[in-house]
Amino acid sequence: MATTDDLFKNIISHAKEYGFIFPSSEIYDGLSAVYDYGQYGVELKKNLRDYWWKAMVQTNPDIVGIDAAIFMHPTTWKASGHVDAFNDPLIDNKDSKKRYRADVLIEEHVAKIEDKIRKEVEKAAKRFENFDEAMFLSTNARVLEYRQQADKINARFKEALEGGNLTEVRQIIIDLEIVCPVSGSRNWTEVRQFNLMFSTQLGSVTDDAATIYLRPETAQGIFVNFLNVQKTGRMKIPFGIAQTGKAFRNEIVARQFIFRMREFEQMEMQYFVKPGTEMEWYNHWKEKRFNWHLSLGLGAERYRFHDHLKLAHYANAACDIEFRFPFGFKELEGIHSRTDFDLSNHEKYSGKKLRYFDTEQNTSYIPYVVETSIGLDRLFLAVLSTAYNEETLNDGSQRTVLNIPPFLAPIKCAVLPLLKKDGLPEVAQNIFNTLRFSYQCHYDEKDAIGKRYRRNDAIGTPFCITVDHQTLTDNTVTLRHRDSMEQQRIGIKELKAILDKELALENILAKL
Ligand code: ATP
Repeated sequence: MATTDDLFKNIISHAKEYGFIFPSSEIYDGLSAVYDYGQYGVELKKNLRDYWWKAMVQTNPDIVGIDAAIFMHPTTWKASGHVDAFNDPLIDNKDSKKRYRADVLIEEHVAKIEDKIRKEVEKAAKRFENFDEAMFLSTNARVLEYRQQADKINARFKEALEGGNLTEVRQIIIDLEIVCPVSGSRNWTEVRQFNLMFSTQLGSVTDDAATIYLRPETAQGIFVNFLNVQKTGRMKIPFGIAQTGKAFRNEIVARQFIFRMREFEQMEMQYFVKPGTEMEWYNHWKEKRFNWHLSLGLGAERYRFHDHLKLAHYANAACDIEFRFPFGFKELEGIHSRTDFDLSNHEKYSGKKLRYFDTEQNTSYIPYVVETSIGLDRLFLAVLSTAYNEETLNDGSQRTVLNIPPFLAPIKCAVLPLLKKDGLPEVAQNIFNTLRFSYQCHYDEKDAIGKRYRRNDAIGTPFCITVDHQTLTDNTVTLRHRDSMEQQRIGIKELKAILDKELALENILAKL
C-alpha cells in the first residue's frame, strides 16, 4: 500500500503530467514555492473561485464584490499593523542549517499529543459497546495525562507569544526536546522575528517614501474602500464586501506544494456589523462557511474547527476551518472577528472619517468586522487531493481517476467518435458544437476509445459521449459516467437536458 508521502508525491506528479500545476519557470529549474496553473488547473481554479463568488456575492443580497489593486499606499500597511507585526518567529538548526517556524514546531508537538488522545478514544470505542466518549475523556488516566501535557504546553506557549518573549519560545522547544527532522539534533539558534511582506520601489525614486509592498492579504483593499462602497451602494449595516485576488508573503518555510506559496490567491469577505453584535455574526459565519465546505461533497470527516489560542493583533475571536490534507489536518480557511481595529486605524492614519451613519438611531459609529478568508490554492489542493484515486478494476487493470465533484470539473464532457471514419467524426463535431456554448467540453478522436476514457478519467471529466455506428441509424450515443464507468444509451436530443440536470448549481446553492 502507498504511504501518505508516496500518495502526496503521486498527486503532485499527476498534477504536472496532466496539465494542472507546473513549477514556475521550470526551464530555469523553478522558483521555490511559486507555481503556475496549466490548462486544466486554470479551469478547476476558476470553477472554485466562481462557486465561492456565487455563494458569497450572487446569492447574498447584503454582500457586494470589489476588485482592489495589489499595490496600495504604503501607510495602509502601517495602519493595518503589518509593518510592525506581520512576523513569523524563526529558528535555525545549526547542524542541518534548516530554518523552521518556532510556533509550528511547538504546534506540531502538541498535535502529536492530541493524536495520542484520539487513538486512545478510537481504541476504547472499539472495545466497549456503549462507549461514552465524554466519560472516557474525563476518567481515563492516560488520556488525562496527555490532556494535561497538551494544555500546559499551550498555556506556556500562549503566554510567551503574547508577551513577545522569544527566549521563552526557544526554551519551550528545548524543554520539549524537539529535534530537527533533518539533522536529528537539538542544536537550535535563538528565535528571531521575520517580516513576511515583499517590498518594491514605486517609480524611479529610491527613497523610503517610494517603498511600497505587495499586499500580504486582500482584506485591506476592502477596508480602505468601505465608505466608497457603503455610500455608492447605499448599503445598510450589516453588509459585506467580498473580493478575490493575489496576495504575497515571503514565507520562510515554504513546503507542501501549493499549500504554502509565496504568491497565492485569497477569497475574502469582510462583514460590517454593529458593535456588540460581532459574536453573533462570528458564529453565523462559522456555520455558514462550514456548510459551504460541506456542499463541495468532499466528506464531512475531512473538516474540523480549530479555535485560535493566540489571537492576532486585530482579533477578539478567531478560528480555522481545517482540512485533512494528505499531510494531516491543516488550515484551509480563517474566520476572524476583527473588531474595529482596521477601520479605526485607517481613520487615525488617514485623518478621514470611516464611520457609518445609522439613520434609525441617528448616530454614527465605526462598524465591527467579521472576516472569512480562504486560500484558493489550498482549496484547490483540498479538492485535488481528495479527488485523486488509484483504482484496481474488476478485470485487474488499474486506472487513476480524479473524482472531482462534476460541477467543479475542468472539462464537463468529452465528445468522442469511436472511429476516425465512416462519418462518425462529423456527427461528434456537431454534438460538440451544440454543447460547447454551455459547457467546457472537448473533442478528441486520437487513440483507441479505452485510452481516451482513461485520459478523461485522469483529468476528472465526469461525462464522455461516444458516437458509434448505431448513432448513424438511430441518433443515440453512449453516455459514460466517470465514477461508476457505467454506460447509458441516450438520444442526442436528450444530452443537453441530462448535463443541465447533472451539473446544475441551483440545487447546491439553494441548500446553503
Ligand atoms: P498559516 O497559519 O497556514 O500561515 P495564516 O493563518 O497566516 O495561515 P491567514 O492570514 O488567515 O493565514 O490567511 C487566510 C487564508 O489564506 C489561509 O486560511 C490560507 O488558506 C491562505 N493562505 C495564507 N497563506 C498562504 C500561503 N502562503 N499559501 C497559500 N495560501 C495561503
